[in-house]
Amino acid sequence: MTAGTDDHAYPLTWVTEHLAVGGAPMSNEQLKSLKDQGIGAILNLCAEFCDLHDIEAAAGFEVYYLPVPDEQAPDLPALEKALAWLDEAIYLGKKVLIHCRHGIGRTGTVLNAYLLRRGLGHKMAARVLRPLRAKPANFDQWWTIRRYGRAAGRLTIREPRLESGHLVDLAPFLGDYAGLVAAARIAAKGLPRCGRDHARCCRTPLSLSLVEAVHVSHRINVDLDSETRLAVIEDAAGASREIEKLAARYGAGNTHCLSAWARLCPLSRQDKCLIFANRPLACLTNGIEAEAATRLWEKALEPGLATLSRQVFLALAGGLGGENLPRFPLPDVVSGRYVSAVFKHLLALSQNGGR
Ligand code: SF4
Repeated sequence: MTAGTDDHAYPLTWVTEHLAVGGAPMSNEQLKSLKDQGIGAILNLCAEFCDLHDIEAAAGFEVYYLPVPDEQAPDLPALEKALAWLDEAIYLGKKVLIHCRHGIGRTGTVLNAYLLRRGLGHKMAARVLRPLRAKPANFDQWWTIRRYGRAAGRLTIREPRLESGHLVDLAPFLGDYAGLVAAARIAAKGLPRCGRDHARCCRTPLSLSLVEAVHVSHRINVDLDSETRLAVIEDAAGASREIEKLAARYGAGNTHCLSAWARLCPLSRQDKCLIFANRPLACLTNGIEAEAATRLWEKALEPGLATLSRQVFLALAGGLGGENLPRFPLPDVVSGRYVSAVFKHLLALSQNGGR
């Protein structure tokens, strides 16, 4: 746990790398400060400020609003729903703030329940809470925690942990990928941008290398709010199923398969890209004059993507991917199906003696 510093307009108290607690942000400067400190999602418990959650959402945060009157505790079903949202947000790599008005009783009650949900048990949870201001502050809140603890039980399958761990740190690869993006941006400077100024690339079948698949999938998880994310995954899953059927009939990679989703990219909404700032290189370079585009792809982007994809494959699957790593149709990336394709590829390689 680290306390926030006075350098910030909003002093956060970090409980874990992805979870912080505090009081209600009371100014635009404080909302901006939360953004600057990496907070992307807020669990707001303030029943007394009935429009604060709208202000937070308008400021660009993903907000879960669980209004709890001062000095009280949420009922168990509402608490469970909020904790499921919190768990998912943290699992997806978002940094979340839990706040009530002063960041004490209601925040402490929800935090305590979250610690129990993560399997810490009452004693370990109390140890985490001891240095914090946030803790259950009256009998109602304390009793809610006792009841929640009985309902949540203890995790027995794995070691209790504060956060779902991400097994592989892909940040270095994504950092190198950003270098390729910078080169593509320079080449495309001044051109109309696909995904914002027009949607030509959004109706063109697109498949991604592994490093781009990981990047796009990560941005979907972090940048989209829960509702939008589930909607695009559902759209993409429909297209993925269609691609699978066509692949069974015509063979994977056949243009018939890709035509299944050529109608529209699942990340397009009213011809605007939901991940515009992080759209794939093919979208970013759409519109570059043909000769310049071929040079850029052959000299920089393709070799860069191939090298990074091999490194990511090794990090993810623990094995060398061979010369011809698969590419992934964008709907499979959005729906998450590409992960099973990675492991199928690894299995196929091991059955063929690594060729
Ligand atoms: S990722 Fe964005 S810009 Fe690219 S095809 Fe999809 S909606 Fe269009």
